Amino acid sequence: MTEELCHCGLPLHYSDPDIRQSVENLISRLGPSVKVTIDHRTWLVSRHYIALHGLKGAEVESLGFQPFSIKCPQCGVTSYNPNDVKNRYCGNCHQFHEEMK
Ligand SMILES: [Zn+2]
Ligand SMILES: [Zn+2]
Repeated sequence: MTEELCHCGLPLHYSDPDIRQSVENLISRLGPSVKVTIDHRTWLVSRHYIALHGLKGAEVESLGFQPFSIKCPQCGVTSYNPNDVKNRYCGNCHQFHEEMK
């Protein structure tokens, strides 16, 4: 059996086996990731990581989680293109979000 790793690179480092069990239960019911939306952008973040580290909104981008979607504040179109999420770009408006007013 291979040991499961936390997103930080360490083997899952729960100090309390009961907490680990309850997170494992959640994962088997709801899947391994949680959608976290910040500033129109959504990432898939590991449940284990959130349980072990907590999550401060602004840092999600720098942690290397999988981009999921981005919603344009101007036209409301949602894109699932990882590059759009990363660059905060709307392919419908052909504009970066920071260019929008
Ligand atoms: Zn960790
Ligand atoms: Zn747009």
